[in-house]
Amino acid sequence: MGMMTQIDLLETPIEFLKGVGPKRAEVMRQEFNVFTFGDLLQYYPYRHIDKSKIYHISDIQSEGAYIQLKGRIVSSEIVGQQRAKRLVCRFMDETGSIELVWFNGIRWVQDVIRENHEFIVFGKPTQFNHRWNITHPELIDPKTQSETTVPTSFQPLYNTSDKAKRAGLDSKAISKLMMTLIPQVKDVIIEHLSGSILQNLKLMPLKEAMSHIHFPRDMQSLSAAMTRLKFDELFFTQLKLLKLKLLTSKRYKGHIFSVVGDNFNTFYHDYLPFPLTNAQKRVIKEIRADMGSGRQMNRLLQGDVGSGKTITALLLMLIAKDNGFQSCLMAPTEILATQHYENIKKQLSQMNVRVEFLSGSTKTAKRRQLHEDLQNGDIDILIGTHALIEDEVKFKNLGFVVIDEQHRFGVEQRAKLWKKNTTPPHILVMTATPIPRTLAMTLYGDLDLSVIDELPKGRKPIVTAHYFERDRLRLYGFLRREIQKGRQIFVVYPLIKESEKLDLQDLMAGYEAMSQAFPLPDYALGIVHGKMKAEEKEMEMQHFINKQTQILLSTTVIEVGIDVPNATVMVVENAERFGLSQLHQLRGRVGRGGEQSYCILMSSDKLSNDSKQRLDAMVSTNDGFEIANFDLRLRGPGDIQGTQQSGILDFKLADLVRDEKMVSYTRQLAMTILDKDPNLKNPENAPIAKYLAQLMSKNVFWGMIS
Ligand code: ADP
Ligand code: MG
Repeated sequence: MGMMTQIDLLETPIEFLKGVGPKRAEVMRQEFNVFTFGDLLQYYPYRHIDKSKIYHISDIQSEGAYIQLKGRIVSSEIVGQQRAKRLVCRFMDETGSIELVWFNGIRWVQDVIRENHEFIVFGKPTQFNHRWNITHPELIDPKTQSETTVPTSFQPLYNTSDKAKRAGLDSKAISKLMMTLIPQVKDVIIEHLSGSILQNLKLMPLKEAMSHIHFPRDMQSLSAAMTRLKFDELFFTQLKLLKLKLLTSKRYKGHIFSVVGDNFNTFYHDYLPFPLTNAQKRVIKEIRADMGSGRQMNRLLQGDVGSGKTITALLLMLIAKDNGFQSCLMAPTEILATQHYENIKKQLSQMNVRVEFLSGSTKTAKRRQLHEDLQNGDIDILIGTHALIEDEVKFKNLGFVVIDEQHRFGVEQRAKLWKKNTTPPHILVMTATPIPRTLAMTLYGDLDLSVIDELPKGRKPIVTAHYFERDRLRLYGFLRREIQKGRQIFVVYPLIKESEKLDLQDLMAGYEAMSQAFPLPDYALGIVHGKMKAEEKEMEMQHFINKQTQILLSTTVIEVGIDVPNATVMVVENAERFGLSQLHQLRGRVGRGGEQSYCILMSSDKLSNDSKQRLDAMVSTNDGFEIANFDLRLRGPGDIQGTQQSGILDFKLADLVRDEKMVSYTRQLAMTILDKDPNLKNPENAPIAKYLAQLMSKNVFWGMIS
């Protein structure tokens, strides 16, 4: 069968599958993002349950796995009232007992259960108040159990939703649909790896893998199918990214920055406020070489908070000016953009370099003037927010773009910047989000990487402590002593989008309490939050920077980039509600001057295990990379800032941490193949080329290179 048949059949709208129909199809589109036969085929189970094995109650040690138990219900009672009403049964085998709990369908369960009758119970044990229980287990009567829905003892479990369940699409129903689908499409699944790869790596052929991922014969066939499909995800992702890199570096000639001239030299010799670190020097050299190569630069500059990325970028912008080009620096928030603008303007005050600021709140008249001056080439460096990338902002000769704190900007925004000059500008994206190597390789496979891996000298490591609510008075005492020494303090409250009102309440309540503990006239407090107008925020920040206030309370608006060297204490309220990388960012707001700085993580007295581990990790290390790795292990890559919107990490099976070796291996393999056969014209690579073309045609990511 040919390619067309495969595409035709796999592209068949899902409603035409027997057992689906228009109504369920609508639900499947909405809830599962499944539109076609092919999509459903790739709606992989999230786990399988081994119904061939019966566990002992005494063996239950960890949460999370579905297991099967065999025993008797020895008692049952209704507990609680109204919405909290539930049926609780005690279930015993010869090794121990466990509670079975039902919140719904109580009447139905009561009809089924018989005390002292043997049942097989199937479900996921969880621990509550130091006791094990299973909520809504499946009850199987071994005496009457004859037909099982699935032909193997490995039963697939599929993600579903309440809405889907109401449409009759629970996990079992989905597995039934799979049983209809797989025999129908199996023969048109075309292998898209080359024979030699399959053989050399002993990978399971695609056709088999697609069927075994749903209905494996045994553990081995499940794991072989899994390996094969993960391999595909990672290998083709790497191919895509490398191909993009190849195309962009080929297609786009870059401006050649050949000279290092007066602007750079004067600043470097006369106005640099401190000697650069070796890492900063190395990175400047790397980037200079890249910008002089004749190819357009696309580079990620990674450096932990406080490593001095801004001054590095400024020096590079001066090189752009030396070569007759304009630059712009784009920051994710108004406050941060303003701070960059003010710092850079001050640093360049003795030089003949014109720096301007543009944001959404720039007044129309001023904006018009800026537009004009930009087009005339009268402005050398434009600093601002994403307002910079709007279409009406036109430069005379934009040569270099710096994007600070990359995680807030998507690929599409980058693409927009490319179009600001007939030859696209060099692009440097700076991020403090410490991204583990595997992730960087994948996420930024199309970017080159520079790393500032050294902090400026004389920084004392920040001391981090975890305080509980009961330690609050101790905290206040400590803060008073710091203020007495002339230091300043940040206090940050969590901001969770879903409940902005609530968060504001937290902040306001905190402000109230702090105002009493730190009363006027001895102390002055400032407050900043997202609901304030830009000018108000500005003013509050300015008061803090000028030391008119000693304590600044805020929601996470100060998370990114703000630089107040005199602030030595960062207090994070409800620290357990923050992500690790966010906590690390916040901690990076202090420790910028020469004084000993502190980060105090406040949490409620009672903490879940997981929260405790995370706060412990913060206390034990200052190294952003270590923290990111820990985070990745704990929560998976989906939660790392910046990866959610990228769409690149949209893996169904692969896991960048657990499958780290495969990530490196597939990248290497993809490079080797493209090295030898950049256009994949070799007949051996034909299946790869076909599938890649298919993937690329679907992917918006590629819009920017056409
Ligand atoms: P980040 O990399 O987090 O953006 P910044 O660029 O804001 O860090 O720099 C943090 C602070 O360190 C700033 O106050 C900056 O002036 C200062 N700084 C940068 N480089 C050096 C250096 N080589 N020596 C001393 N201080 C430096
Ligand atoms: Mg910064």
